[in-house]
Parts: sequence; structure tokens; C-alpha cells
Amino acid sequence: MGETGPSDRYSRQVILPEVGVEGQTKWATARILLVGEGAILTAAEIALKSTGVSHLVQWKTDVPQAPTGEADLTLVLTEDSAFRRRASRLLRKNRMPSLFAWCAGSGYALFAASHQGGHCPCLECFETLNPKAFTRGTPTVQRLLGALAASEALQWVLKGSTPLENKVWVTSLDSGVSFHHEVHASGKCPARLLEEGAVVTP
Ligand SMILES: [Zn+2]
Repeated sequence: MGETGPSDRYSRQVILPEVGVEGQTKWATARILLVGEGAILTAAEIALKSTGVSHLVQWKTDVPQAPTGEADLTLVLTEDSAFRRRASRLLRKNRMPSLFAWCAGSGYALFAASHQGGHCPCLECFETLNPKAFTRGTPTVQRLLGALAASEALQWVLKGSTPLENKVWVTSLDSGVSFHHEVHASGKCPARLLEEGAVVTP
């Protein structure tokens, strides 16, 4: 009487026919860590919640300690480069699958790192070779990117893998061009060098 069972609840929210109840259950039980702030994070959060994701934990720039506990997937959506790097090192060390999204040029970029075995490639492998590939976006692009990152995260949760693994996917909104760029483990990666005990200038 008046009670809504889980399948009723999800059936109203099926956004892709092939997802079905099984897929909706995966989303409903997925534990997702959101790292960042601002419009990108808010847009991702709204998109995730609208599909039934309820286990969301946030880690914001001004909080020194990462939230404890396991996450199935982490979305790194910050525009603070130092914080992004710090998060990347921790996620890599803890072998946590992570999706990074940032504004780039007139558009945006996405990078998925599984951090298997706690190894590279990681975000810093890419950043070391492409230091200028990160920009600050307008609120419109930020919101678009947040929703897009959420969509990729949902696909990853659903399939257990992502076609973006170890790839940076760059989209330019003014030219409409979109391309994939393979990311390889770099010998110059600061995360790896630090792990090996080398002195690295931050
Ligand atoms: Zn690396």
C-alpha cells in the first residue's frame, strides 16, 4: 500500500532500454566517489542521482584527507591541478578505477585509468607530456562535461570496463573534432618517480 519496490522505482527511470532492471540495480548499488567542486561536480551528481545512483561520496579541495572506504569508481572533476594530481596519486596507489574529466581548449577531455596493480599509465603520465592540455571551462562547458563524465561512468559500471581505458578522449567544441589519444606509462611520471624514491619538484 503506497510502497514502491525497487523495480518500480527503477522502471520509471530507465533511460536506455538495454539497461533494464539488472543494469539499474548495478547503478543503484555502485559506490561512486566524486572528487572536485563547482559546476562540473554538481552536473555529474545530478546526472548520477537521476539514474538511481545513491552511494555517492564527495572529496572536496579543502578537505585534506580522502574519504575512507572503498569506491567502485572515482570521478575526478576538479579544476585545481594540484588537487587533481594529489587525488591521482592516491587513486593510483590504492588501485582504484578512475575517470578524469577536465576542460581543454574550447571543449573537454576524458581519461580513464584502471590503476591496475597500482601502476601507470596514470593521469600524470599524460600531464607530464601534455602540460598545457588543461584549461578552465566556462560554466556551460563545465555542466556539459559533468553530465558527460557521469554518462561514461554509468557505462563503465554497467559493462565493468570502458573503451576509454588508458586513453584520453579530447573533443573540441568549436571545430567539432573528437579524437582518442593513447596514454602510455611514462618514465618521467612524477607519481612513479616518487614511488621509486627520486626527488621530484612538485
Ligand atoms: Zn604515471
